[in-house]
Amino acid sequence: MKDIKAVINKYFEQIVAYRRHLHENPELSHEEKNTSEFIAAKLREMGLEPKTGVGGYGVTAVIEGAAPGKCVGLRADFDALPVKEVTGLPFASKNEGVSHACGHDVHTAMLLGAAHVLIELKDEFKGCVKLVFQPAEEDVLNCGSVPMIADGVLEDPKVDAMIGQHVWPQYTTGQAAIRNGAMMASSDRFHITIKGKGSHGSAPEDGVDAIVIASHVIAALQTIVSRKVSPRDAAVVTIGTIHGGSRYNVIADEVKLEGTSRNLNPEVRNKMPGRITEIAEGVAKAMGGEAVVEYFKGYSPTVNDPGMFDIIYGVMKETLGENAIVPEMSALGGEDFSYFCERIPCGFFWLGTRNPEQEFFPIHHGGFNADEKAIPTGIEIAVKSALAFLAK
Ligand SMILES: [Zn+2]
Ligand SMILES: [Zn+2]
Repeated sequence: MKDIKAVINKYFEQIVAYRRHLHENPELSHEEKNTSEFIAAKLREMGLEPKTGVGGYGVTAVIEGAAPGKCVGLRADFDALPVKEVTGLPFASKNEGVSHACGHDVHTAMLLGAAHVLIELKDEFKGCVKLVFQPAEEDVLNCGSVPMIADGVLEDPKVDAMIGQHVWPQYTTGQAAIRNGAMMASSDRFHITIKGKGSHGSAPEDGVDAIVIASHVIAALQTIVSRKVSPRDAAVVTIGTIHGGSRYNVIADEVKLEGTSRNLNPEVRNKMPGRITEIAEGVAKAMGGEAVVEYFKGYSPTVNDPGMFDIIYGVMKETLGENAIVPEMSALGGEDFSYFCERIPCGFFWLGTRNPEQEFFPIHHGGFNADEKAIPTGIEIAVKSALAFLAK
């Protein structure tokens, strides 16, 4: 077998150039026309025959090995965020107010890099690798993986397992993390409308104060996580917006709240709509008002398959050393990779991308910049894990 590190290094500059081009030209979810065309063009330059328009702007390509066998998918997402970039990088976003603040430029560049490497190695493996370039990961209620699945991304050739990764600035370059089981959370959204009755601010007895009810509802919602979820299960209920009232001396007749609910355990998740509704309706009713709850299910939890965990963990150990693997980590961020995990065995890992000499910014912050020195590591773990799956 060729030295994979050496093959990756051969393409490193090229891969960084891909990354910088993508970084400079970010496109929002469902608007990634140029990004999609760029990916397809690069795959064609490599001699592959990409399939475009897969469930939207999705692009796939298949790299066949030397003999028939299983098929493993490698997935990268490629949409950007409505976040103003403040990195000051020479290749900063040219699309005002839009940036790759979640590092999907790096994911895509790494998958193009993996394509170069796998093409060089194709006489050395059986089966095939399907490259899955996915749009619209950031749009929780209309995400990109679901239409790609509906459009047959897991068929023809049938994909037996899938591997994905996300850049993770909490960990330094050279580190990685994976968990056996749930790695990322379900990501649901809810709206609560509190209805009261308006009156003069001096005469609360004539009205039903929706603002006071809302404050009690918000406080009571905190008891779901503290009193109704086992301390062994991670969960979050966050109210992110509150709007109500029209004037300082008028009792508000309506307040609108918006929030998010996150869980790693699907059973706990399924109880959330009921708990939130009971509390909002019950508290509002007790205070003479009314609450209407709308609950929107977003991403499912991203749950790693035990077999895929073993493969990826083994590769990480060999590539980075056991001390560089952050064990048993999970986060309550959501990932639409979860929809692949619901259908076939999947493995998802985080790639440390923090340069300790630079100021720390989390993902989704305009100052976030992944360390490009982490790129070879991400490619190496993905490629070696894919080959290990095919060899099994
Ligand atoms: Zn994101
Ligand atoms: Zn992301």
